[in-house]
Order: sequence, then structure tokens, then C-alpha cells
Amino acid sequence: MAYGTMTAPEPNPRANAALAADCEVCNGWGSVITSYGRHELCRACQSPAEDECHDGS
Ligand SMILES: [Zn+2]
Repeated sequence: MAYGTMTAPEPNPRANAALAADCEVCNGWGSVITSYGRHELCRACQSPAEDECHDGS
């Protein structure tokens, strides 16, 4: 093997297991495999950026 340094190209993104525990989309993994074959954080339970301001009342 010539490519000895390419053992782990892309580690899984860090997901919040607590949030993913009750998710049906990622089955508790917190990450999903996209059509590109890459691991990405589950959008359903892992919200990376909550920019929206929720008006309570
Ligand atoms: Zn999820």
C-alpha cells in the first residue's frame, strides 16, 4: 500500500447522543449517511445552528 497515511480520511462528526437518542431519522446515531456516502449530522435532531429567534409570547 502506497497510501499509508490515508487510513482514516473522515471521522464521523461529533453528534449529541442525548439529542439523537429519541430520533427516528438517524436511529439514535446522531449522524446520517448522505447520498454522497459521507457522514453528516442528523438535521432532525442535531441542529448545528439555531439562528431562528422564537418569540415565546
Ligand atoms: Zn437524528
